[in-house]
Amino acid sequence: MNNRLYGNLIFELSHPGRRGYSLPNNEFGHYELPEAMRRNEDAQLPECDELTVIRHYTNLSANNFGVNNGFYPLGSCTMKYNPIINEEVAAMPQFAALHPLQSEQTCQGALQVYYEMQKSLAAITGLSEFTLNPFAGAHGELTGLMIIRAYHQSRGDMKRTKVIVPDSAHGTNPASAAVCGLEIVEVKSTADGVVDTEDLRGLLDDTVAAMMMTNPNTLGLFECKIPEIQQLVHECGGLMYYDGANLNPMLGVCRPGDMGFDVMHINLHKTFSTPHGGGGPGSGPVGVRKGLEQFLPVPKVAKDGDTYKIVGCDEGNIHVGEFFGNFAVMMRAYAYILSLGKEHIRMVGPLATLNANYVKESLKDVYALPIPTVCKHEFVFDGLKDKSTGVTTMDVAKRLLDYGYHAPTIYFPLLFHEAMMIEPTESESKETIDAFIEVLRLIADEAKNNPEEVKTAPHNTPVGRVDDVLAAKHPILTWKQMNQ
Ligand SMILES: *Cc1c(COP(=O)(O)O)cnc(C)c1O
Repeated sequence: MNNRLYGNLIFELSHPGRRGYSLPNNEFGHYELPEAMRRNEDAQLPECDELTVIRHYTNLSANNFGVNNGFYPLGSCTMKYNPIINEEVAAMPQFAALHPLQSEQTCQGALQVYYEMQKSLAAITGLSEFTLNPFAGAHGELTGLMIIRAYHQSRGDMKRTKVIVPDSAHGTNPASAAVCGLEIVEVKSTADGVVDTEDLRGLLDDTVAAMMMTNPNTLGLFECKIPEIQQLVHECGGLMYYDGANLNPMLGVCRPGDMGFDVMHINLHKTFSTPHGGGGPGSGPVGVRKGLEQFLPVPKVAKDGDTYKIVGCDEGNIHVGEFFGNFAVMMRAYAYILSLGKEHIRMVGPLATLNANYVKESLKDVYALPIPTVCKHEFVFDGLKDKSTGVTTMDVAKRLLDYGYHAPTIYFPLLFHEAMMIEPTESESKETIDAFIEVLRLIADEAKNNPEEVKTAPHNTPVGRVDDVLAAKHPILTWKQMNQ
């Protein structure tokens, strides 16, 4: 709902002197703040009654779109359903009300969750040990690269300053390498969308610290040459880093550790179901193969008999954040792993893969499919097949909003001009997916017969088409009262 009264800013609903509360008479006398600490003038705060505030925020929240509202095929983001039981577990006061400085004896349960989560992730990925301290995928990448740098330095191998990153990589890969003070070298993709091993051979020497790979890559393709690639990189003394943000289709099917990767991160908020978007919350656990455990960041949780202990606090190890990461995200992931169990977690990948291929095959006669091979959990169209209509990927994405769907990821990856990256996830029913396919076909028809309707979309949303360029060049990030 978006009516005139409640669609405004809370400041615009303000009336001087209007109050939403009544306080009992003060029987304790007055305390004056020291002059130097006082404002010169009253703070400009909105003054509203309680019901106006409730309606304002309830209506705002109804303008939000989430997985619980409708289909959200945002490629690369794995917007899967977050089962309610995960929320209940994360909100249990025995965990949610813990203080981070509580003594070990009083939070054994929380330490057990941390310990068992890192064991579960080690089993799922085939690696030796995990830290759950990083707060996001990108933070995990940085942590992983710091581990790799510490490993090389521990061997006195100081000349390794390069990180090889495929041209299809997520933007966070080169960004993390740069933040870690490493130099980025790009390796090309072949025409069928996987790493070009010939190009890679030419880049390898004794200054390579690591190669970062995403698998399945950002085109949703399984990197079939990993055995050869890992051998080449290891022969020149570099380590293999696995960006595990796309782990979803691999769960219980195959393991990065078995493929020869040394270090990886996982996005708990993608693969292991935490609602995310708009910058948070996240968790990017980092795992290492046997022999690299001593480079993991501190603090860690260890098990001593039946007791869990916090260890490593005073060692000179890497430190990537206070305490133990985003604990509520960990709790949701823990509930998700335990409620699916070993047998059902194996079904996630094949179902996600089936759904993605079904959408792809059902639409490839009207949308351009630059890489026609079998995909994993996601795939990329290069806009409408019929380019003569002038309707762009942006227009299709905006028109989808009119029909009640979240748009796919658009204009990423950068390998195609009109990229439209679709990831349906395993949570969706055939009926939902069929309805989405029907709408995308309908939009393709509209593009042919009534292109203006598509080019000016969205028509049914509270806010119409915004000027992206203006918003990027002149963002207005604070509110100013008009009459001042
Ligand atoms: C999402 C994603 C990341 C970054 O994860 P954040 O949690 O957003 O920092 C890195 N790599 C790939 C392939 C991703 O899809």
